[in-house]
Amino acid sequence: MPDLIDLRSDTVTQPSAAMREAIAAAPVGDDQFGEDPTVNLLQERIAAILGKESALWLPTGTMANQVALRVLTRPGDDVVVSQESHAVWHETGASAANAGVQFTSVGSKGCFTPEDFVAAVKPRGHVTYPPTTLVEIENTHNRAGGIVFPQDAVERICTVAAEREVATYLDGARLWNAAVASGRRPAELAAPFDLVSVALSKGLGAPGGSVLAGSRQVVQRCVRYRRMLGGAMRQVGLFAAAGLHALDHNVHRLADDHANARVIADRLSTSRQIVLDSATVRTNIVVFGLVADAPDAPTVVDRARARGVLLFAFGPRTLRAVTHLDVSRPQCERAADVLLAVVET
Ligand SMILES: *Cc1c(COP(=O)(O)O)cnc(C)c1O
Repeated sequence: MPDLIDLRSDTVTQPSAAMREAIAAAPVGDDQFGEDPTVNLLQERIAAILGKESALWLPTGTMANQVALRVLTRPGDDVVVSQESHAVWHETGASAANAGVQFTSVGSKGCFTPEDFVAAVKPRGHVTYPPTTLVEIENTHNRAGGIVFPQDAVERICTVAAEREVATYLDGARLWNAAVASGRRPAELAAPFDLVSVALSKGLGAPGGSVLAGSRQVVQRCVRYRRMLGGAMRQVGLFAAAGLHALDHNVHRLADDHANARVIADRLSTSRQIVLDSATVRTNIVVFGLVADAPDAPTVVDRARARGVLLFAFGPRTLRAVTHLDVSRPQCERAADVLLAVVET
């Protein structure tokens, strides 16, 4: 169906003709020997963008999160995260299986305060408590509707974490969106953290790849766990070339995705069947609820699909729509009108 409007995720984007040309032209080598010049270039470029010493390419953001946990925690440790974080909801229990950690979820709507964090920290050496050794912040926060974590809270949380010798990790799969929406440089958003991940395969439109960045020492330790999880690859300069192309062409245009999401949110919030404060939509994700007498989320997904609009059910009465570089403003307007129609019937 050529006129399908796919709002399930910003991962559905197709590599453009120009991106495919960049992939075809890339010099490559065996990345496990550190000999892929395109991967090395991408790693250096992202380390510089994030203001870190060193960076490491990985195939997925899930693996980046898993490697971060292996490097920054020990089995049995406690990790403080926001409610409904990606690590807890979307990684098939990997953190328990791989790093053997438990999570304490705090705050609300994807954010938490330094006070929330301090109240959740369990000290080392206690006779019964699991030691809290890591705090993880997701920015932007997926399940909370793409919200940007307030940077003053980030800085204070990381300061009190350092005082307690708790490591800090930023799940920045959509950090590019946070940077564009807040007008802050990625390096500023990343500065308080020991380790940071960013994705090339979400709003940036590359076919795959995430990058971890931090001090040389921490990133060096990530290399072993990437291999342990089966993610050490060979001529992945093909992916890195797409990432470099995306950094050149697809970061600033994220503002268009944000504006399109706001258009969808503004239209949806006019319906009495829908629960959504469109003022909270600041990036490319629209998470909205359905009132009790509206059709449920799976019904809305089916009806919208029949009218050429794809979106994702996050819960029995919760839906997510995501804008990206393969959906235009008119398509977003049309999708919103389809959604309004299907929730009313
Ligand atoms: C998508 C996502 C990931 C995982 O990335 P994959 O490449 O799909 O494994 C991690 N964290 C957040 C916040 C994400 O949105």
